[in-house]
Amino acid sequence: MTELDGLDVEPIIGLEIHVQLATRTKLFCACPLMFGAEPNTATCPVCLGLPGALPVMNRAALEHAVRAALALNCRVAGFTKWDRKSYYYPDLPKNYQISQYDLPLSSDGYLEFPFGDSISKVRIIRAHLEEDAGKNVHDIPGISAIDLNRAGTPLLEIVTAPDLHSANEVRELAVQLQRLVRYLGVSEAVMQKGQMRFEPNINVRIRCNGQEFRTPIVEVKNLNSFRALHGAVNYEVTRQVAAWRKTGETAVSGNKSNRGWDDEREVTVPQREKEEAHDYRYFPDPDLVPVTFGTEWIKSVHEEMPELPLARTERFICEYKLSRQDAAALVDDRGTADLLDHAVEAGGDKLTLAKHFLSFWARHAHERGKTIAALGISPGRLAELANLVHRDQINATAAAQLAKAMLDRWDAPATLAAELGLLQNRDADQISAWVAAALEQNAQAVRDAIANPKKVKAARGFLTGQVMQLSGGQADPKIVGQLVEQKLGDIASQQ
Ligand SMILES: [Zn+2]
Repeated sequence: MTELDGLDVEPIIGLEIHVQLATRTKLFCACPLMFGAEPNTATCPVCLGLPGALPVMNRAALEHAVRAALALNCRVAGFTKWDRKSYYYPDLPKNYQISQYDLPLSSDGYLEFPFGDSISKVRIIRAHLEEDAGKNVHDIPGISAIDLNRAGTPLLEIVTAPDLHSANEVRELAVQLQRLVRYLGVSEAVMQKGQMRFEPNINVRIRCNGQEFRTPIVEVKNLNSFRALHGAVNYEVTRQVAAWRKTGETAVSGNKSNRGWDDEREVTVPQREKEEAHDYRYFPDPDLVPVTFGTEWIKSVHEEMPELPLARTERFICEYKLSRQDAAALVDDRGTADLLDHAVEAGGDKLTLAKHFLSFWARHAHERGKTIAALGISPGRLAELANLVHRDQINATAAAQLAKAMLDRWDAPATLAAELGLLQNRDADQISAWVAAALEQNAQAVRDAIANPKKVKAARGFLTGQVMQLSGGQADPKIVGQLVEQKLGDIASQQ
């Protein structure tokens, strides 16, 4: 419960999420999935709903859906079927959508995700497959046009229980889901392409004078950015509490309503009332056979599952000695996290590699608008650079310089380091000579470093800096430190 306008309120939010599956072709025909293609060029008699055309199920879509369902800890049904959901819209040429009604392919799962300082858990009621509709196009003045390229695109619909209690928590779940489906390779989940869309169901529990009230449920349709999702939930919570104050209306069966999100004004607006389930006249599709899964097959899909983001974050925290935040940043992109693991397999020092990934590699990737994986440096080269630092052959500043050079040229780090004069000088005689010269030139600092308690630390730091300068930044700072100490000790004992 939080306080809003002097009332104890608790938002209650469930989500419906549509994820476009990354198949090459549509769910029931061989038309390619093409975003941004010339309108109505990726269509055929099946997805145009022409009489006599027969659908054939896309096996890849089913596999993707099962993979996602298993990652959501759902129970995968051994038997599932297809149903027609009837409604009449211009963007739905068959006048029905093929979906799954009473026997969805999976149900009863959950997803855990980090939220704030703890782990949130949301129950997944079901995840099923269905086909997308086409698109109404309104960009020609005075004309409403239809583009059916999207009609028949495979969608995974994920329905959560109303277990979420704030706009921030809802957004975090959405972010984690996007990462999960990308990890699994089942969807690119690019919002701008409509590959992931959200429909939150929102109402508010209000406690007042020892009584409890629930506002009517509102479903906000078709949100296609994290920002819109967060904004719509926040707006609805405030709006519903204000409406309750004014009218006292509470949730009863049948007063659930739909609203849309106005991105410009950042408000929700009323939409057509939702049909009750029976209005859709669901019935089994006679053109499609039911699907049965063998337990062996489900097991094999399970075994091929990659390490999932949450588990990987925990492993990175332990193995790479990282904070939760740093580990999450590295795990965010699967390619980058894979690259780090591969660089370790190639013999690179773990902790140095993680440091490099979080500092200059992340910076270079950010500057180029890419992921670290997309920078194109091989695991072997990354390992080699990390080991130059780990073995004190170059210092940290030189490593950053080398990284930049590695992006411009494809030479090995050691070759580049030699060429650019970045290798550290560890020749004790040479460094001794620089130390002697620095101490001779800075008599006052030497006196302070030996006998002025207030200035000992600063003076020693200064002298070390002078030696580094004499070496042109190439002396190994550890050896310099040791030799400066030693020399000062000698001088002090002679006095
Ligand atoms: Zn087609």
